[in-house]
Amino acid sequence: MNKIIASCGLICTECSAFIATQNNDDELRKKTAEEWSKMFNADIKPEDIYCVGCLADEGTHFSHCSECEIRKCCLEKEITNCAFCDEFACKKITEFFGFVPEAKKVLEDIKNSLNIII
Ligand code: SF4
Ligand code: SF4
Repeated sequence: MNKIIASCGLICTECSAFIATQNNDDELRKKTAEEWSKMFNADIKPEDIYCVGCLADEGTHFSHCSECEIRKCCLEKEITNCAFCDEFACKKITEFFGFVPEAKKVLEDIKNSLNIII
C-alpha cells in the first residue's frame, strides 16, 4: 500500500488505528487503546480505535482526527496537506509540531520537493 500522509504530516499507514482497521485486528485495538489512554491521559476504549485515514472522505475517523482543525483547514483549502499551503508553517501547525516533531520533517520534506519541482 502507498504511504498515506495526513494533513498534519502524521503517516496514517503507520498509525495503529489505521492498521487495526485495515486488518480488523482486535488485539491491536486493545493494545493501542491502552497506550493512547496513557499518552493522551484519556479514557480511550478498543472500540474507539477505528480509522480509515485522514484523506478518506467517508468511513470512520478516530475521534481526534475527525475533529482536527488542521484537517478541516486543509479540506477548506482543498489541499492534501499543510506543505501545499501558502501559509505554511502557520501558528496552528507549528503548535502541533511541538507535540509531534516528526510530522514537521515529513511536511518540510514535501515542501522542499515542491520547491525543487517549481
Ligand atoms: S487520521 Fe486516523 S490513521 Fe491518520 S493519524 Fe489520525 S488516527 Fe491515525
Ligand atoms: S493555514 Fe496552517 S493549518 Fe491551515 S492548511 Fe495552512 S499550514 Fe495547514
